[in-house]
Amino acid sequence: MTGHHHPEPEQRIRFCPLCGTPVENNFAFGELRPVCPACGWTYFEDPKVAVAVLVEKDGQVLLTQRLNVPFQGLWTLPAGFVNAHESPEKAAERECLEETGLIVKATRLVDILSGREHPRGADIFIAYQAEIIGGELRAGDDAGHVAFFSRDALPPLAFETTRKILFREGQNPPCDQK
Ligand SMILES: [Zn+2]
Repeated sequence: MTGHHHPEPEQRIRFCPLCGTPVENNFAFGELRPVCPACGWTYFEDPKVAVAVLVEKDGQVLLTQRLNVPFQGLWTLPAGFVNAHESPEKAAERECLEETGLIVKATRLVDILSGREHPRGADIFIAYQAEIIGGELRAGDDAGHVAFFSRDALPPLAFETTRKILFREGQNPPCDQK
């Protein structure tokens, strides 16, 4: 998938968050955007950025089972959205701990993929290889089960990005974390 994601009309911004005036859709900065006629506030839709970790132990990869729709019950890499003011490496480590109980350190960028696979998905998807440095395997808040699988006996996967990361060839240089 390529190009801009445009939300459905009912999901569009209707009021200015600064002054509460109903917005107008005006041509601004090269696109039709919600613009406040009272204070000039303009809505720019930011890309959603997600991170994932590829954690391997004894040749097996760590996967979590989705509790949430869409793709409920299917399996993915530990992953989640990056918060504002958070580095992607730290976001990846935080999501892994929240979902699997394992404390990991992001060691290497695996790949950056783009294109939403579903309306609630990410526009940009960053995957890191990560090493376990502590913790104990247990399913967290939004994961059904967590387990290690060998690549030739994977459970049903939720996303094409998961498959791409699992079967990507070649390695990038190590992370230089500050
Ligand atoms: Zn306004």
